[in-house]
Amino acid sequence: MTQKVAFIGLGNMGGGMAANLVKGGFEVRAFDLSPAAQAHAKEEGCSIAASAADAVVGADYVVSMLPNGAIVEGVYIGSDGTDGLLNVMPKTALILDCSTIAPDSARRVGAAAEKAGIRFVDAPVSGGVAAAAAGTLAFMVGGVESSFEAAKIVLQPMGSNIFRAGDVGAGQVAKICNNMLLAIHMTGTAEALQLGMDNGLDPAVLSNIMLKSSGCNWSLQKYNPVPGVMEGVPASKDYQGGFMVDLMLKDLGLAMEASLSSRSSIPMGAAARNLFNLHKHSAGEDQGKKDFSSIQKFYTGNKKS
Ligand code: NAD
Repeated sequence: MTQKVAFIGLGNMGGGMAANLVKGGFEVRAFDLSPAAQAHAKEEGCSIAASAADAVVGADYVVSMLPNGAIVEGVYIGSDGTDGLLNVMPKTALILDCSTIAPDSARRVGAAAEKAGIRFVDAPVSGGVAAAAAGTLAFMVGGVESSFEAAKIVLQPMGSNIFRAGDVGAGQVAKICNNMLLAIHMTGTAEALQLGMDNGLDPAVLSNIMLKSSGCNWSLQKYNPVPGVMEGVPASKDYQGGFMVDLMLKDLGLAMEASLSSRSSIPMGAAARNLFNLHKHSAGEDQGKKDFSSIQKFYTGNKKS
């Protein structure tokens, strides 16, 4: 029998993910507040529900891809604990929340779901809009082993790498650790390349040297931040596309929040967050919609003459 997925949140990421579930043979009943997002999902073969509560009727799985933790908690738990999806969805359904939210927020939804007798995993993703459309996302899942195994059936059409990080909330922890490290090595790479250029080196030559030396890292290998060094990357397209500064700032904010909760010291992550925040407001215009490798412009712009 065809399995039914309720999909809530059909934006830049969710739209492509829902379309891949349709291609994977699932019956997808979808909901988004935006009529444009609904129309796009309909073109991709989803049926459109009148509300989130309508979408979950008879669902085997509920997948959400929403902007933040307050919205995710609002959708599942509701304003007073009685008007969220947990009160109306089938007890047998499995919830997969793929949004990027604070681990504590995921744990609150997980605990409320457990109280309602419903299984929940957090399954945030690595990979952007193109990976969501191509079905090549990486999923970092938090939940008990049996729920993880059940979740894989739904995640497979949307992703190429699926990891279990630990219990509920662990997927979000893995996601913010990864993105904090990404922010740190991207800022470090931009800083090193600027130092080289300021001292007369060709950034392509310096990049080749560091790629074969101990400074080699993912930003240098796949995502060089200096325009013209690498073809096809956002740096060579005026920093359009890719992963926005605003989303990196969101993830670094979640890392700060998690560090306060666990009393961890994250001086490098805090420095990276400050750098991206200064960059966002630099050069007299909001840089938030630019790709995060545009941090290179912050170094270039602040170079001493
Ligand atoms: P988006 O803003 O494009 O999409 C979010 C969608 O949720 C919108 O269409 C909005 O109308 C809908 N929505 C909001 N509240 C709703 C509600 N109560 N009920 C139903 N629909 C509602 O955002 P996005 O880029 O698709 O990101 C979604 C999540 O994925 C975020 O948590 C983000 O941090 C994460 N993420 C994004 C990227 C990326 O590159 N865009 C990469 C990795 C992770």
